[in-house]
Amino acid sequence: MNKPFESMHNDYLDPDKHLQAEMPIKENLLARTDTECPSCGGNAAWYFEPVDRDDPDLDAGWHCEECDWMQEATDEDFTRQADISDRIKPLWARIHAADIPPKDRKISSLADMFANAPDGDFKWDDNEAGDWHVWCCGERDCPSQWHKAAYALDMGREGGKRYVEARSVDEDGNWDFDASWDEREGQTESDWDEFARYTLDGQMDEFFKGWARYWIHCAETRTDVLSESSKSPSDADWVDFCISAAEDDIKYLEMGK
Ligand SMILES: [Zn+2]
Ligand SMILES: [Zn+2]
Repeated sequence: MNKPFESMHNDYLDPDKHLQAEMPIKENLLARTDTECPSCGGNAAWYFEPVDRDDPDLDAGWHCEECDWMQEATDEDFTRQADISDRIKPLWARIHAADIPPKDRKISSLADMFANAPDGDFKWDDNEAGDWHVWCCGERDCPSQWHKAAYALDMGREGGKRYVEARSVDEDGNWDFDASWDEREGQTESDWDEFARYTLDGQMDEFFKGWARYWIHCAETRTDVLSESSKSPSDADWVDFCISAAEDDIKYLEMGK
């Protein structure tokens, strides 16, 4: 059972993945896809950066994804986007300031974890996962970039040997084994810290950081790829709404320090 981080895409708990996928892929970051192409009725996406890194001559603006129609960005468009960027910059600074690298995290001890556990053998299984976390995969071929995952933690003692297992579930309801610390598998107290650092602690940080980054992305792109808001990205106050949601998450992230 002790094969952490083996899945291909539902690998939110993979520490390397976290650090690499700090930002969505640029091409997707700057696309808004809720508008029709006036020429063919297809989906028109909005880009402020060159649409295709391999074809840097494609200008910023509206581009139809199905025909050649395009409308260049106006000065007003650029100004509006620059205003959003100016409001977002201090949010990123606060996220980075509150972000403690995993190696510096204060971690829960094994003793704390089992402090309320009964003597002898027992088995406590989480029947339900917790709240949804959101994370950005940063995979080049992934259209949404953003995913949801929720966690459950099982623990127990079997034949006198202790174990803690982390499982996660994705937005389609697929459960996955994530990581474990397991004396039945020969692990010892010296293996605890790494498991705790990445799997247990930092989960609250990741929760608020993930949501803050998601709302920033929603403000910047005027999208809501995970359909998490009852508001619509076409609402006049969409950007204000997203920025204020991100600020709330950052406030909680900062409180945890
Ligand atoms: Zn078109
Ligand atoms: Zn993805």
